[in-house]
Amino acid sequence: MIRIDLTQGIGLKATQDAYFDILNTKLKKARGRQEFTSASTKERIRRAYIHFKQKRHGLMYVYEYLLNNFREVITDEPQKLVKHMQKITALYKKHKLTNDKRIRNEGTVARHILKTLGYESFSGGKKSYRFINLLNVPVCPYCNRQWITTVEADSGKVRATLDHFFSKEKYPYLSMSLFNLVPSCYSCNSSLKGRKEFSLVKNIHPYIEDFNGKLHFSIGFVKGASGTKKVVEFYKDEKSLAIELKADAKSSKSDLKKAKKNSSIFQLEKLYAHNKDYVVELVQKSVVYNATYINDLAKKYPKLFNSPGEVKRLVYGNYTLTSDLNKRPLAKLTRDICLELSLPI
Ligand SMILES: [Zn+2]
Repeated sequence: MIRIDLTQGIGLKATQDAYFDILNTKLKKARGRQEFTSASTKERIRRAYIHFKQKRHGLMYVYEYLLNNFREVITDEPQKLVKHMQKITALYKKHKLTNDKRIRNEGTVARHILKTLGYESFSGGKKSYRFINLLNVPVCPYCNRQWITTVEADSGKVRATLDHFFSKEKYPYLSMSLFNLVPSCYSCNSSLKGRKEFSLVKNIHPYIEDFNGKLHFSIGFVKGASGTKKVVEFYKDEKSLAIELKADAKSSKSDLKKAKKNSSIFQLEKLYAHNKDYVVELVQKSVVYNATYINDLAKKYPKLFNSPGEVKRLVYGNYTLTSDLNKRPLAKLTRDICLELSLPI
């Protein structure tokens, strides 16, 4: 897991403002889907509020809350989203909105809120592309194995999927919240996480933290692969090698529990077991290269590299600094194994 650090790039405040602007422009009707049209998200919330107020229906209180706290619900950071969640959950309870049967012809409470906020139009239209381009996350933060880059051409387009960290079925009012939308790969979002419920207590939220200081990749050996052979001989033998996620010594118990939970949901050890050849190459590189050799390369080709870091990237085939781990698949694996093999990063 790699953190999406919004303090980088254009900065946190500018990102929040830009996302708010994206949402505040008028929506067009998504093809084949019923949604309110030609009104901004806030205007549609206002209309829904008036509608349920006239009906004296408890849902008016939820829309009133969203209307009064619109910007906050849309742009607040995860810990604050939990506060909104608690307040709205209390409104649900007070006005008996869970499983409310009174919203005839309008579906369930959750469906109504999703529709009012315009999630489908957002997801199926240009706004989701604008949002994803704004965040500029090239690799899935959950697995760090898949590219999720955007392409928009007349002949076809593709973008990252958007995972709702907090379930959009259970918390539809957070369906459009910046910090509840995690650009991620299809495998992690739909195949592995699916409808499993995540929380800040039990799971790692990629906008807040990652595996650093909690779990690291390490070379292990599959059972039975022991004997008198030297360790490096095992390293060359993919079959006896295992890639493990081990606890960092400084990790707290609760952090470790969260990290392990994420690792298990996203099947990371099983997926990374398919990258043994990559680790074998790093082992080979650890024999061929050392700090002196890498420095010599930088000196020998002063015009070829902008920095000593670029020489390391050429040698390891990846980024290894913590701040760069979201730039290329397998970067965290590369960093951890390089550290284990005492290669300079
Ligand atoms: Zn992924």
